[in-house]
Amino acid sequence: MKRCVFCLENGVLRADQILLRGKRVYACAPRGQLVEGFAAIAPYACVGSVSQLSRESVAELDEMVEMLGRFYRETYGCERWLLYEQGRGGGGLTVDPQDGFPIHTHLCALPLDIDLHAALAERFRSVSIRGTVDLANTVDGPYLYVERRDHKDRRDARLYLPSSPETRRELESSRVRPLVAALAGMPERGDWRDYPGDAELEAAVARFEAWQRVNVAPRR
Ligand SMILES: [Zn+2]
Repeated sequence: MKRCVFCLENGVLRADQILLRGKRVYACAPRGQLVEGFAAIAPYACVGSVSQLSRESVAELDEMVEMLGRFYRETYGCERWLLYEQGRGGGGLTVDPQDGFPIHTHLCALPLDIDLHAALAERFRSVSIRGTVDLANTVDGPYLYVERRDHKDRRDARLYLPSSPETRRELESSRVRPLVAALAGMPERGDWRDYPGDAELEAAVARFEAWQRVNVAPRR
């Protein structure tokens, strides 16, 4: 099995890529910056989906989402941004069937205003929920979670669920990233191996650090 990218002890993510460290959850800027500011929020533990996290972990994850939203607004001038999680492991799957990497959940955050909902609604059954806080109570199989949030904290959070064995398999193996890249008008960035975005990564880390210095009180 391949090394898990999101298990920090594996050292795939460098220390400077970790933007926020909580007790149970952290936020990082991964390689493959589709756009500058692409972030992932993950638990330290190798858990397969946000729906399997404890309430405390989800609360911490929500705090980080909120902080990233402020960063997007104040740094990139975003009126609205996008969050998504590929809940491939929601039904207990632990290894990606296609690429053989461990499924370690991460909520993706992007300073992009695109309508992923419209693109998904025709393929899957969709359920409106309040946010990640509802995932544990609403789903116990593979899913896709998509949320658009704006600077007035209005949220459009929806869960996409399979409607047949075929769409269940699709949810367990699908990749949202190429779809996001296409909707954002950058289809060539759909696979991070084709577009690692290392310059954007360096810029995102520097800009987040600068923003944090001014806007966030130190924890100690
Ligand atoms: Zn892991």
